[in-house]
Amino acid sequence: MSKSRHDTLFDLTGRTALVTGSSRGLGRAIAEGLGDAGARLIVNGRSARSLEATAAELRAKGHDVVEAVFDVTAEAEVEAAFEGFDRDGIGIDILVNNAGIQHRQLMVDLKLSDWQRVIDTNLTASFLVGREAAKRMIARGEGKVINIGSLTSELARATVIPYTVAKGGIRLLTKGMAAEWARHGIQANAIGPGYMLTDMNEALVKDETFDAWVKGRTPAGRWGEPDELVGTAVFLASAASNYVNGQMIYVDGGMLSVL
Ligand code: NDP
Repeated sequence: MSKSRHDTLFDLTGRTALVTGSSRGLGRAIAEGLGDAGARLIVNGRSARSLEATAAELRAKGHDVVEAVFDVTAEAEVEAAFEGFDRDGIGIDILVNNAGIQHRQLMVDLKLSDWQRVIDTNLTASFLVGREAAKRMIARGEGKVINIGSLTSELARATVIPYTVAKGGIRLLTKGMAAEWARHGIQANAIGPGYMLTDMNEALVKDETFDAWVKGRTPAGRWGEPDELVGTAVFLASAASNYVNGQMIYVDGGMLSVL
């Protein structure tokens, strides 16, 4: 039987994907999913030890994995990492800007240093890493950038104001990337996860009131599993999304539809 011309639409064979903050959580799930679709993986985090463990687990599952320890908020470290990829002949076809942190505090009690740390990690890092990746993608005339936003790219929540400001910024950063880079064959899109079961939410899951609020307000009636982002990530990383640009796709169990 002859093969359909759409058979390879979601195939990432021969592609290399850098996923920032992929030592655990959503980044790790996305990396594994891109690997399952055929991509070679570059995993990233600040701790060599936890990255080594994650890389070993992914290799044991048959993935081709490169470890890249760098802090996404440190301009010199980001530039040095990309110079290292250049030296090793590694071209990045897919960048997932996923590394993120959370800090819960009322704004009146918030220190400037905590505001800055949250903005740096959740927004400025996507500029720093995106800039280095895009320079190389532009030279090659193609590339896929996926920024990880959040439900809070759309709405405010008390106690996490700098986080929501950063994630709101991700929406327009993504549109700006699309506006500047589309003519170079690059698509930049974003994923906005809802409330997902990762380390970031460990304390909230254990808080009965918060847990009940999430389950009650999410039409799906439950928290999301990290693996539930994989389909959207593979779509946005693949040829299937070649005419999709500047978009944010919410993967939130329907929460934004009802709030
Ligand atoms: P986790 O806390 O589980 O994991 C965060 C990851 O980011 C880790 O791999 C961590 O690695 C890495 N990281 C943090 N800071 C840096 C840094 N400066 N440089 C490099 N790596 C860093 O978070 P999640 O998996 O839950 O979140 C992933 C992304 O998804 C974030 O952008 C988050 O805002 C977003 N998100 C999460 C939601 C959720 O419900 N969990 C909902 C909506 C969005 P290490 O500590 O080893 O450096």
